[in-house]
Amino acid sequence: MEKTLIIVKPDGVKRGLVGKIITRFENAGLSISSAKMLWLDKKKVNAFYPNDKEWILMLGKKNTEAARLRGEKLGRSEWEHGKLVRKWLMDYTASGPVVAVVLEGSDAIMAVRKLVGPTDCSQATPGTIRGDFSTDSILKAGKEKRVIYNLIHASGNTAEAKKEIKFFFSDKELR
Ligand code: UDP
Ligand code: MG
Repeated sequence: MEKTLIIVKPDGVKRGLVGKIITRFENAGLSISSAKMLWLDKKKVNAFYPNDKEWILMLGKKNTEAARLRGEKLGRSEWEHGKLVRKWLMDYTASGPVVAVVLEGSDAIMAVRKLVGPTDCSQATPGTIRGDFSTDSILKAGKEKRVIYNLIHASGNTAEAKKEIKFFFSDKELR
């Protein structure tokens, strides 16, 4: 069995979607291994999200792609935009309580990403959590100088899952 981490982000908690979101995972055969509600400060959020050049550029690239899909152009470089997105992400993630959950199951990391859907809710297919509960878009969010409200974080790969589970849960809290 594999473990992965999800976080219901402040928008998901504010909208009262914690139960509905977790049910999606349980329905798919994943089980809750550990869970807690907490309010992260900016320092904690800063330590949680990567801060390397590659990751910041990846954030910028998602915006170029979102603009390209609508025949628009990003007004600043991917690097500059990526840095802004990361800053908005710190502000947003620290803006309210979140729920962190370790989910366990067969091929859990990929299974969860599939159920969550892609970063841009406006591009997520119906049936995914991001596709069913939001129509927000990366492009609109960028224009409004904020992150996209996409409800949920999910570890992207084995290394990320291992690091992120450890970030939220001590050995005693894990089973
Ligand atoms: N994000 C954003 N605009 C972007 C890229 C990312 O608002 O162009 C935010 C969004 O909230 C996302 C988070 O930054 O969930 C982390 O980005 P990542 O690319 O890791 O997306 P995820 O893994 O959550 O799909
Ligand atoms: Mg990610």
